[in-house]
Amino acid sequence: MRKLIAGNWKMNGLASSLAEIEALKGLTGKAACDIVVCPPFTLIENAAKRSKDSTVIVGAQDCHPEASGARTGDISAGMLVDAGARFVILGHSERRASHNETDAIVASKAVAAHKAGLTTIICIGETRDERDDGKAIDVVGGQLRGSMPASAASSNMAIAYEPVWAIGTGLVPTIEEIEEVHSSIRQMLEERLGDDGRLVRILYGGSVKASNAAAIFRAANVDGALVGGASLKAAEFAEIISAAA
Ligand code: PGA
Repeated sequence: MRKLIAGNWKMNGLASSLAEIEALKGLTGKAACDIVVCPPFTLIENAAKRSKDSTVIVGAQDCHPEASGARTGDISAGMLVDAGARFVILGHSERRASHNETDAIVASKAVAAHKAGLTTIICIGETRDERDDGKAIDVVGGQLRGSMPASAASSNMAIAYEPVWAIGTGLVPTIEEIEEVHSSIRQMLEERLGDDGRLVRILYGGSVKASNAAAIFRAANVDGALVGGASLKAAEFAEIISAAA
């Protein structure tokens, strides 16, 4: 399966940071994977212009479930498309925690994103306590079933397994632990989507670096990565992309 490497800039980056897109464009044609960069809302339009005529795809980090209306400070999926985005990250653990996003909210955002023509990267993952209690697979399964809308298919959705305790901490599960969760996600996708479930890309996220990317990408059912901190450094992100090729 063609791998997908997505960079999540979170609340980082100014217009000057978009030089990274130019650096990534140099990989165009060489990279045998899809490259998505998700800057903050303010940079999407500029990023989309800069990535024109390259295979670098621009994505967003969230959208509102409604198309328009009295929603101060919110951004709809249609607005993202208008600005040049083609992907959107939904249900990141930071949003689940600090914006109280439930599975149902994530699913409603995904419906809106699919209607607008965006590809969704739906994030799921357990906390350290949940893993220590032996509940990782159950938690991830519940989030997956609850966050995936009826409109989901391999053509418009990837799943990102991001253990909360691995995000920004430098801690990474063992390859066996990653494979265990990814294979259970694959099974659930097949139960829900039939044969098409085999084609949904399952990304790993949480402290992916140039130094561990190759080993993670060799793991069964790992079809790419959602990269936070290391996606802010063009040279390191390029190394991660090369490891996926
Ligand atoms: P990290 O973040 O790579 O900095 O751990 C990943 C993410 O939150 O998507």
